[in-house]
Amino acid sequence: MDKKTLEILVCPICKGKLEYDKKNNELICQQDQLAYPIKDGIPVMLEEEARKLSGVAED
Ligand SMILES: [Zn+2]
Repeated sequence: MDKKTLEILVCPICKGKLEYDKKNNELICQQDQLAYPIKDGIPVMLEEEARKLSGVAED
């Protein structure tokens, strides 16, 4: 994942900056607590494809 690509990518929901999670190969939006997958090197910036980050477990 190249740094320039990461810089131009924003979260489709909040338009905020994303963090690249190298370990999980995901793009993280801290604001929405969502992780967008990267498939074959292409970030999938779709809310329905994003994984919810379990911040605080409620149950
Ligand atoms: Zn967001």
